[in-house]
Amino acid sequence: MTKFIVITGGVLSGLGKGIVTSSLGKLLKSHGLSVTAIKVDPYLNCDAGTMNPFEHGEVFVLRDGTEVDLDLGNYERFLDTELTGDDNITTGKVYRSVIEKERSGEYLGKTVQIIPHITDEINRRIWKVADDTNSDIILIEMGGTVGDIESAPFLEASRQLHMELGDDSKNLIFIHTTLVPVLSVVGEQKTKPTQHSVQELRAIGIEPDIIVGRSDNKLDKSTKKKISLFCDVPVEAVVSSPNANNIYQVPLILDDEGMTSYVIKKMGLEEIIQERKEQATGMVEWKEFLESYENPTSEITIALVGKYCDLKDAYTSHEEALNHCRAATKTKINIKYIESEDLEKEDHKNLLSDVDGILIPGGFGTRGINGKINAVNYARINDIPILSICLGFQVSVIEFARNVLGYEDANSSEFDERTEHPVIDFMPMQRGIDMMGGTMRLGAEKVLLDEGTRAFEIYGEEEIEERHRHRYEVNLDFKEEIEENGMVFSGKSHNQKRMEILEITEHPFFMGCQFHPEFCSRPMKPAPLFLAFVKAIIEQKGK
Ligand code: GLN
Repeated sequence: MTKFIVITGGVLSGLGKGIVTSSLGKLLKSHGLSVTAIKVDPYLNCDAGTMNPFEHGEVFVLRDGTEVDLDLGNYERFLDTELTGDDNITTGKVYRSVIEKERSGEYLGKTVQIIPHITDEINRRIWKVADDTNSDIILIEMGGTVGDIESAPFLEASRQLHMELGDDSKNLIFIHTTLVPVLSVVGEQKTKPTQHSVQELRAIGIEPDIIVGRSDNKLDKSTKKKISLFCDVPVEAVVSSPNANNIYQVPLILDDEGMTSYVIKKMGLEEIIQERKEQATGMVEWKEFLESYENPTSEITIALVGKYCDLKDAYTSHEEALNHCRAATKTKINIKYIESEDLEKEDHKNLLSDVDGILIPGGFGTRGINGKINAVNYARINDIPILSICLGFQVSVIEFARNVLGYEDANSSEFDERTEHPVIDFMPMQRGIDMMGGTMRLGAEKVLLDEGTRAFEIYGEEEIEERHRHRYEVNLDFKEEIEENGMVFSGKSHNQKRMEILEITEHPFFMGCQFHPEFCSRPMKPAPLFLAFVKAIIEQKGK
């Protein structure tokens, strides 16, 4: 039978609840348990797809094409698993289905209310994941902070779920993550915010089983005792989550703090762990990964030319993919964030003169496009390794059409509807779509690679699968002319109509892809294109 762990957050957002959730999942999985995770996002959007990265960080795309919160990316990376749209429950999704049911007459005669109709719908969705995945453990991370109006129905639903399961804490436990600040004047770890947020939880009828205290340093013994006393949990159930050098350390820190053994004891998992002994991987490989990660022997700098650079979370999956390459190559990778608009200025070359490689991520809208084109041009002419993704891929084609084919007005019809050289154009299947949410070409699709190309060499196989998120693509009218002039489309869709990978052979490393390789990179399995890119930079730098 599936058991549940609900992770709530108190005091303020940004405490790393998602990393705690991912880390605990990783630890339980290392004992052989099957684990999956659900993220609850209490916003009214049905999914994250229509949100600007400035609002909420990167939009992560799942294999099934659902656009979700970036925390699901961390779950996938830590658990080395593939999640589905069902694993992201938003207020928008829940209300939408309740209202649809009301209209179809499912509640005929009833007044439709938050309790029980919304809460039932929330728990129906949680049970669906349990039934579909048959996991031993489902982690449910509650977005937002306890006390927010938005998250109240979700907390109420989990209180009900707890009751339904029989509240002996074997089947569902609550983990509350809070902040334990230190006031510089006194230098003492303060537990009052934790006490208040636990009181807030209690008022809703939830008693935390474990409290994770985020703090700069480990919690002092006396702090743990105080939290234990005031929040009514045993001292062993108070766990420190001090600042870590990198997120991949967190599972080991929590394990050291006794979190795994406490969860196993509290939930009575000993027996099932015994049964799953064969599947247990332990943490050996993880530790090896971390060891390589933490001891780089060389260093490179990559420019990330984006348009949401002020918010680090906007490029999480790119950063993580590079982190995976860092461990695989034992190379420290510095990321130099460059706002693409800054590359539109006269002296733009100075901004790029000290970088060893250039990464151009995806994006939408006209702002900064010419800066990206300048970056591609700089990389192409100066033999700087470059990897361009999605919009970056499209920009690489535009740059080539402008500067090699000589079509000065070459553009994407996303930015110039009237250009005579729309080398990037609307996908035919996108015409006539007027709803913005969830209507792009989304999710995993197969890509065929041509033998003898660099792409084929990198992936080592003929057919791969990668995740997509776009509306525009290479216009086939220009394909031949582009290829005749030295840019090769080495990866294509099954029907050969969609260009998926481009490369320039006469260059140390000039590659682009219409899909998003960053979403499938994993700690011990870096995305092949990223790894090849980083290796090419290292090689080029060595010359
Ligand atoms: N705006 C481009 C398109 O829709 C690229 C999208 C992206 O980079 N994800 O095709």
